[in-house]
Amino acid sequence: MSRAILLLLLAIFLIRAVWRLLEGVVSGATSPQVRGRNPAPQAVKLVKDPVCGTFVVPGKSPSLVRAGETIYFCSDTCRERYGAQT
Ligand SMILES: [Zn+2]
Repeated sequence: MSRAILLLLLAIFLIRAVWRLLEGVVSGATSPQVRGRNPAPQAVKLVKDPVCGTFVVPGKSPSLVRAGETIYFCSDTCRERYGAQT
């Protein structure tokens, strides 16, 4: 008895999985816009590392305050290199 219920649940699960897959294929083929997928959010302002030119996220990267201005670097190596230059 319980085995029949388990098989039924498994069948329902499989049908739902296949259905979702088909639905995704159909919507992907017909609609020009992709649902629920945003193209790279540009909410975070990036700053350029003056040593190597890499764009970094301020606050998450090593920084140095020079003449009242905060300069951000991609790594501690770049920060040290900048400090050695000036
Ligand atoms: Zn760098």
